[in-house]
Amino acid sequence: MKQQGKFILMNREDFKEYILKLKVKRIIKLIQNHHTYIPSYKEFKNNHFRLLEGMERSHLARGFNEIGQNITIFPDGLIAICRPLDIPPACIKGANENGICIESVGNFDIGGDKMTEEQKKSIIFVNALLCKKFKLTPSTDTIVYHHWFDLETGKRLNGKGITKSCPGTNFFGGNTVEAAKKNFIPLILDELKKL
Ligand SMILES: [Zn+2]
Repeated sequence: MKQQGKFILMNREDFKEYILKLKVKRIIKLIQNHHTYIPSYKEFKNNHFRLLEGMERSHLARGFNEIGQNITIFPDGLIAICRPLDIPPACIKGANENGICIESVGNFDIGGDKMTEEQKKSIIFVNALLCKKFKLTPSTDTIVYHHWFDLETGKRLNGKGITKSCPGTNFFGGNTVEAAKKNFIPLILDELKKL
C-alpha cells in the first residue's frame, strides 16, 4: 500500500481489507463503470500517482473541486482510492448521489487498448467487493455503464439519446445493457461467491 496525498494505491488483497473496514455513511445503490479514454495504455508507465494527479488537474480545470472518481483501476491491476467514498462522485449526471464511480485507465473502444488480464481481474474484483460491502445484488440495475445515461438530461435511456461510448464499445465485449448482462454481470456474480 502506497499513499501520496489523498491517493491510496493498493493491490486487490489490501483493497479488500481497506474497503471491508471502511465506514461509509452515504447510501450506495449504484456502481458506475467508466474508462478514462485519456490517459490510455500508452500514457501508463508505472506512473500511477502522476496519472492520478493529472486527472485531478483536468477535473479541476472543468470546475470540479477534486478528482471526479472514487476509484481508479490501472492496467497492472493496482487500485487507487481517489475521491473519498463518502463524497458522491462527479461522473454521471443523474447517477452520482447514491453512486460510486470506478474509472479504469485505458481506451476500451473497439480498436483501442486490449485490456490486460490483471486489470480485468481487478475490475471484476472491485465491482464484486463493492456489492458485498453495500449489500447489492449484481445486475444491470446496480452495476451501470456511463453509456446508458443521457448526458444532457441525466436520464437512463440505456444507450439512446446523447451519450458517450464510455466504458468503451469493447469493454468486456461491449457497452450495451445486453453485453453487460451476458459478459460482465455473470463474472461479478461468480467473484462475489468467492469473497
Ligand atoms: Zn464515463
